[in-house]
Amino acid sequence: STAQIGVTGLAVMGRNLARNFARNGYTVALHNRTASRTRTLVEEFGGEGDFIATETAEDFVAALERPRRLVIMVKAGDPTDAVIREFAPLLEPGDMIIDGGNAHFADTRRRERELREQGIHFVGMGVSGGEEGALNGPSIMPGGPVESYESLGPMLEKISAKAADGAPCVTHVGPDGAGHFVKMVHNGIEYADMQLIGEAYQLLRDVAGYAPDRIAEIFRTWNTGRLDSYLIEITAEVLSHVDEVTGKPFVDVVLDQAEQKGTGRWTVQIALDLGVPVSGIAEAVFARSLSGHAALRDASRSLSGPKAAPLPEAEAAAFADRVEQALYASKIVSYTQGFHEIAAGSEEYGWDIDLGAVSAIWRGGCIIRAAFLDRIRAAYDARPDLPSLLSDETFAREIADAQDDWREVLVAAVRQGVPTPGFAAALAYYDALRAERLPAALTQGQRDFFGAHTYRRTDRDGSFHTLWGGDRSEVAG
Ligand code: NDP
Repeated sequence: STAQIGVTGLAVMGRNLARNFARNGYTVALHNRTASRTRTLVEEFGGEGDFIATETAEDFVAALERPRRLVIMVKAGDPTDAVIREFAPLLEPGDMIIDGGNAHFADTRRRERELREQGIHFVGMGVSGGEEGALNGPSIMPGGPVESYESLGPMLEKISAKAADGAPCVTHVGPDGAGHFVKMVHNGIEYADMQLIGEAYQLLRDVAGYAPDRIAEIFRTWNTGRLDSYLIEITAEVLSHVDEVTGKPFVDVVLDQAEQKGTGRWTVQIALDLGVPVSGIAEAVFARSLSGHAALRDASRSLSGPKAAPLPEAEAAAFADRVEQALYASKIVSYTQGFHEIAAGSEEYGWDIDLGAVSAIWRGGCIIRAAFLDRIRAAYDARPDLPSLLSDETFAREIADAQDDWREVLVAAVRQGVPTPGFAAALAYYDALRAERLPAALTQGQRDFFGAHTYRRTDRDGSFHTLWGGDRSEVAG
């Protein structure tokens, strides 16, 4: 028999993706550098479907029907290149290599170019949803040549998550690195969402004076409204969890130093290259980084500042409602920034990404899945050329309604010394976009003064320079 698809790299993600294909009726060829993993998979889950276990690269390739579809689920970076080097010489024109790892989109662009010369279709495919998603239905973001989607697409549609309206959470995002780029920004938005939720929690704890189990209840309530999302749901679970050993709230016994694997950092690095202000995502990455500076934090604990004093019980509930408004408004801003980055990447690399389709495939399966994404899709479907999510009437109105509370929450945070970089960056972005005039005019004056960098004027075309060291007359720049 021959397999319609093969998976090499059978750690958590690869194993679960292979099982997902098999459970959907496909025959799946299996391969892993260390053969014992392949054997274990077949021993434990062989009954779930048709698997062809192979040990050598040659046997693996021989087990695949043509054109071959070979999914790589190995550690991103050099291991992916090593695996491509191993398999590419065994493949023929028209065959497909699908990289489901968290590759940097620039690597995907390079690999696609190199393999195209050999006639191999290389599909960089973002996969979100973690271990559970890979097994039961992830959100899938494939890039690569559009022809490859003709035969691969229907298979991915089968194994993907389905949104509430039944639509599969997969679409051909765009050529070469488009899929991995969108996956990268997805993770950046995930960082921002998590940071904003973290700030909301800290405010409810320090300013409202609520204990974790009470805050969990509040998150559960929020999860029935417009904030309905996977991350809010699991936040309530984590907050209500009690540590077995100490009997204390779990969140109080975990070291407060967050880790990161790199996709959030890439989102910010690439945004800097593209000139896109993703201040909320950047603050989220920096907040994780700051949390990890244990020595710096130890050395700084004695710095002076207010100590948060919880509000009287009668005022706490109203404050919690305000926090919900601040969280929602800040969330709109992070998504605005993330979608701006995708639009800018699409423009830079000629990907022609459909932003409405991207929000649609994030509605299920992935970590940032949320009811909210349906609304983003509606906004882009109504106006594909929407300059920014904030230009959408509905979102603009919601922020307008939320902003008094949003500002009040930040006032309380600043007064009480609770760090809220995500909420603050989001509001600063909003206010900067609204501003009639920005101090950038002064910046231009300074740049012209010290570096003769020239400036443009509001009343005339052209560029100008003031003779700052001379008689201060203006000349053409
Ligand atoms: P890991 O990232 O831990 O990778 C382990 C796998 O890579 C093993 O199968 C290992 O083989 C193989 N491998 C490592 N180096 C090489 C090499 N030089 N040559 C051949 N094979 C090699 O596994 P995960 O399942 O966690 O992730 C797989 C990919 O999916 C990664 O790119 C990851 O970033 C991405 N991803 C992970 C998510 C998650 O939630 N974990 C979510 C979405 C994407 P061996 O058994 O022989 O050591």
